[in-house]
Amino acid sequence: MALMTGEQYIESIRKIPMQIYMFGKKVENPVDDPILRPALNSVRMTYDLAQMPEYQDLMTAISPETGERINRFTHIHRSTDDLRKKVKMQRLLGQKTAACFQRCVGMDAFNAVYSTTYEIDQKCGTHYHENFKKFMLYCQEKDLTVDGAMTDTKGDRSKTPHEQADPDLFLHVVERRPDGVVVCGAKAHQTGIINSHEVIVMPTIAMGPEDKDYAISFAVPLDSEGLYMIVGRQSCDTRKREGSEMDVGNAEFGGVEALTVFDHVFVPNERIFLNGETEFAGMLVERFAGYHRQSYGGCKVGVGDVLIGAAAVAAEYNGASKASHIKDKLIEMTHLNETLYCCGIACSAEGHQTASGNYIIDLLLANVCKQNVTRFPYEIVRLAEDIAGGLMVTAPSEADFRDAKLGPVIDKYLKGVSGVSTENRLRILRLIENLALGTAAVGYRTESLHGAGSPQAQRIMIARQGNLEHKKALAKAIARIKEDSSL
Ligand code: SF4
Ligand code: FE
Repeated sequence: MALMTGEQYIESIRKIPMQIYMFGKKVENPVDDPILRPALNSVRMTYDLAQMPEYQDLMTAISPETGERINRFTHIHRSTDDLRKKVKMQRLLGQKTAACFQRCVGMDAFNAVYSTTYEIDQKCGTHYHENFKKFMLYCQEKDLTVDGAMTDTKGDRSKTPHEQADPDLFLHVVERRPDGVVVCGAKAHQTGIINSHEVIVMPTIAMGPEDKDYAISFAVPLDSEGLYMIVGRQSCDTRKREGSEMDVGNAEFGGVEALTVFDHVFVPNERIFLNGETEFAGMLVERFAGYHRQSYGGCKVGVGDVLIGAAAVAAEYNGASKASHIKDKLIEMTHLNETLYCCGIACSAEGHQTASGNYIIDLLLANVCKQNVTRFPYEIVRLAEDIAGGLMVTAPSEADFRDAKLGPVIDKYLKGVSGVSTENRLRILRLIENLALGTAAVGYRTESLHGAGSPQAQRIMIARQGNLEHKKALAKAIARIKEDSSL
């Protein structure tokens, strides 16, 4: 079975006995929980679209190892064309869900671990690449969703992992056994982990020799003993429990993040991809972050498309669509959104082959892409809110709208242009609210800032990759400067 249907995916997740907590209680049936289900539906879309002939080229790829058609989310990029298709696939999914569809984290981890393990083996004579390839083929064959867990809780940011007062603030090996290792620690805000079959764990920063026990990468299933997840709250999350489809704005889709705790989790040797080779921790982090920064040039653009569309609809319903400043704002939103897309495509087109044979993005351009993503969605949201008007945050609830006495009053006073129902006007405003302030902040606004690394992380990479010395040499050559080293 190389491709699962959406329904098979949902049922496969239902069968995994995960330890999930929310609002202080264990969630016995996460698959049908009204707060959690929309996020599961977003991942489901990565399976549903892969079944549709019109999206086959973007959503699937042929595995060079097996010749089987596999979901692109489990694929190792073999060309710059693959890198571009990845971004286009993410834009499509952003358009279809207007949320975070979560499965990219595993795809990005796959590609980072693939090339890094190859290079560790070359240098250290280890067998991590073989371990990883076996795991990868298993995931491709079963069409699994894999989460990538990188961000440690980090404690005191001024201290390295081994200097922390509590050693568990970075995930680390606590016991070495002949058949594997035992790890303790936690990974913060793990996107989509409760909707995944497996998780690839990676270190979160470059490390020195004293951090040996922290330089660990591996994969384990989500029902591993000692592994549990505490779901993060989202603004307006309990609205999803009220049964009002209108008030949530995006009734079907959402995203989810969870604090994921590893309390003495055993990892067998064949699932280990890095174990103590501290000099490679930085490479793994850099590559994963680079791929995920490229991803944002696709997914956030797709969600941006929905937001621009929603603002244009709101303008029409308000009777303002012909105003020149509204037209100009929509142009500005499009300009900003497509600039992000340009960055996603550019870092893909400028990608290159790694020693292992897979393709990596241009790291400088991927970091520039993500740096822009930390800014432009805020401006796009600001313009959307400007166009929508204040009613976006002051409209009464669906319960009031359905009330026999209040409903007709709301219907009468909140009407926009004739020919458009008040209900439709409220629906589009709730969607904008959802994207700007609501639960979709996980998939759009705040995630644009902090997901795939906060702005400073990209600035460090831009400084490192920017090659300032080369630029200085260019300037000196043009200015005909000859420096005298004896001065
Ligand atoms: Fe994918 Fe975007 Fe969500 Fe990251 S934020 S998992 S790239 S949809
Ligand atoms: Fe993300």
